[in-house]
Parts: sequence; structure tokens; C-alpha cells
Amino acid sequence: MYFKRILIANRGEIARRIMKTCKKLGIETVAVYSDADKEAPHVQDADLAVHIGAAQAKDSYLNIPKMIEAAKQTNADAIHPGYGFLAENSEFAKRCDEEGITFIGPSPEHICLMGNKVEARKKMAEAGVPVVPGWDGNLQSVEQAVEVAEDLGYPLMLKASLGGGGIGMERVNHADELEKVFASTMKKAESFFGDSRLFLEKYIENPRHIEVQVICDHHGKAIHLFERECSIQRRNQKIIEESPSPYLTSALRAELCKTAVQGAQSIGYANVGTMEFIFDEDKNYYFLEMNTRLQVEHPVTEEVTGQDIVEWQIKIAAKEPLNINQSDIQMKGHAIENRLCAEDPVTFFPSPGKIEELKLPSEIARFDFAVTEGNIVSPFYDPMIGKIIVYGENRETAIQKMKQTLKQINITGIKTTLPLLQDILDSEQFRNGNYTTKFIENHFEVKV
Ligand code: ADP
Repeated sequence: MYFKRILIANRGEIARRIMKTCKKLGIETVAVYSDADKEAPHVQDADLAVHIGAAQAKDSYLNIPKMIEAAKQTNADAIHPGYGFLAENSEFAKRCDEEGITFIGPSPEHICLMGNKVEARKKMAEAGVPVVPGWDGNLQSVEQAVEVAEDLGYPLMLKASLGGGGIGMERVNHADELEKVFASTMKKAESFFGDSRLFLEKYIENPRHIEVQVICDHHGKAIHLFERECSIQRRNQKIIEESPSPYLTSALRAELCKTAVQGAQSIGYANVGTMEFIFDEDKNYYFLEMNTRLQVEHPVTEEVTGQDIVEWQIKIAAKEPLNINQSDIQMKGHAIENRLCAEDPVTFFPSPGKIEELKLPSEIARFDFAVTEGNIVSPFYDPMIGKIIVYGENRETAIQKMKQTLKQINITGIKTTLPLLQDILDSEQFRNGNYTTKFIENHFEVKV
């Protein structure tokens, strides 16, 4: 047993997912919940549960003192942050360390370093990892931005240095567009990330987003669990992911994965992490950012490699050595994940409310869900209510299985993105694997 009791500083499907592995390892679990989550399944799943505050995330799931207090009160010896909320908050990781509670994730220094896209780009370039061409300074004024942009050449992406979740980034094609969005992007960066710093990088036309899962221990060993294809996005946010990527040849896969491990190792990273890359139309790849946490889409990797990524997070946090070699990791078959959101499938407006019926064909697919029948989907949090994951011997069988699964899901009471997922699965372009991040806006009449 690596820890006696782990507090999960999160909610929804990811809290439930983490608890599953804890149970498998014989570790007790502590849930935390807000006023809006009193009846939530993640609370029922845990051995202990602590109420931490009001529904607004800042009063509960983002409240560091309350989280620490809940861990101390329940004698939890470790905290798993999940994704979102405090997962990439270096201050939180630091507070855990100070209190003698193990933070299940990398060090506060690594979270801080990779949380800053400008710093991360510099470090990766130094390590020989290709980065998107851009300007690695923080823009001080619109005049300076225009000057830098002239040198780089349009089109460009204006980005928040501490950005995330697809927020705080704007494509700019000309100086007048840059002038128009500069102040508002700065404001957005300040209000979402508490930091107004911006930088510029080349806009990659029709890109593909492909990321590599890495695992590094505290003893200098690092391996990868291959890649995830995450190009089906709307508003720069992923909605369908798959592994392997239909875009990569085995030679390119080997090179990309090796580069990702090299990048993570160059900074002495320890725990699991994701190196995100963007591919241009000529199959050149560039580092975008590193996520220093568990990804939403981690299950597709688990399905094709047979590894439990949460288990590795726990073991590495307990300073266990990685006792497997790269050659032990084989990628077998094909996995696809669909994110199901409580949103209008056309406008993407949130659709909170009570789930009247929920029938999931669990015999044919893996369902990592936040909710069960009768639950209320709250307007306070992310509208994703669950993930549907299928595994097939090859891509075609996985697609067929996903289509069959989606057909058998019965959910009433709220609107969901189920019809959109079905449309994507039915489209010729998805079927032939030849898609880019522009897929949704090019194919569907939706507001992206
Ligand atoms: P975040 O941290 O907000 O998720 P990322 O830098 O990881 O931001 O980018 C998210 C998505 O935005 C990418 O998957 C891609 O679709 C798009 N994107 C980001 N940078 C660029 C770029 N330079 N050119 C084209 N698209 C980009």
C-alpha cells in the first residue's frame, strides 16, 4: 500500500475514476463536495466525505485552505488533484508539501515552469524539442506586439502566457486585427488566469493536435505510452480523442515519442505528464505545451497499452521506481473516447437540469461518468457529464462499436452533445482519419 488514505481534490467523473484505482490498491478515499454536489455520485463512492463550501468553485474546489483543512481533518496522507481546479496550481502543491501531505503530481517547480507557456517553450527549445516559431518574450504594449508581428509574419496566434482550456488565444491575420484584439485578450488573460502577459507564435494552418503520454519516476527513468490524436475540437477544446493517431507512420511515431520523453527528462520531470504537439500540413511537429497532470483523455491510452495511469501517478508520488521498460509497453488495437456534454448540440449553450433517465450499455463500452439517473447537472461546473470509451481490434471496429454504443445511450431531461458525436462518427472525413482541428467548423453548421 502506497498511502493509507487519499483525498481527491476534485469532483465528477475524474474523482470517481481516481477512487477506482485507490480501491484496487487498497487505499481509502476521501471525497470533498460543495453545496451543489451533496447528492453527487463521487461523494457516494468515497469512504469519507467532507463538505468544503458553497457551489461557486472559488469557495470550494478552488479553495486551497479548505482543501488542506479537509485533508488534515480526515488524516489523508496524500491528495490527488485530478484535472482542472487546483491540478496545475503550484501554490497548492507547495502548501501540500509544507503540510507533509503528498501531492500526487509533479513538484511545484515543474508545475510552475510548464504552466508558463513562454518559459516552457524556452526550456524545450534548449532541450532540442521543436517549438512553434514565435517570440519568447512577454508583450508589453500593442505597439510592441505589432512590431514583433511584422518580424514573425502573419498569420499569428496571440496567446496568454499562463493560458489553458483554449481560453485567451486569438488568431490574427493583419496588424489591424492584432490592434483590435490585443487589449481584450490581455483583459481576458488577467481575469481567467490572474496574469495579463501575452506572447505571439506562428499560426499553423489546418493543424493536427497530437500528444504523447510520458511517465517519469524520481530516479531518472522515463518512458512513454505512445500518442493520442486530439484534433476533433471545438473552440480549441477537444471532444473526441483516439489512440493511435491515424496520421502517424511508425517512424514518425517513434521519433515524436522519443522527442517527448527527451523533453520531459531534460527538466528532471517526475510523475505522469502530457507533451502536446501541433503538426503542420507537411508533417512537421512543434511543441505546444506540457500538461503536468492527468488528462481528460487518458483512458484511450489505458485501453491500448493496458496500463493504469492513475496507479502510476500514485506509485511515483510514493517514490516507487518505474519497474517497467519502454520495450514492455506495446500498443494494441484502437481506442476512441467521446466526451458527452450537457449542452445544446448546435449552439453549445450549457443545458443544466435533472437527468430523468440514463441508460448506458456498459457491456460494450467503458463509461467514466460523473452522473447517474436522477442527478442534477449543476450550472456551476464544466458541462462534461461523462466519457464514452470503446476499444476495437482496429480503427474501423472501434468506430463501429462507438456508433453502436451511442445509439444505445438513452438520456433524457437535459440536452446533450450526443447528436453531434453521432454526426461526427458518421462523417466520411472522420471515417478516413484525414481530419484537422478545423474539422467541426468546416463540416457542421455550429457556432464554434
Ligand atoms: P490551451 O493550453 O488553452 O489548451 P494550447 O496551446 O494547448 O492551449 O492549444 C489548444 C488548441 O488551440 C490546439 O490544440 C490547437 O487546436 C489550437 N492552437 C494552439 N496554438 C496554435 C497555433 N499556433 N496555430 C494553430 N492552432 C493553434
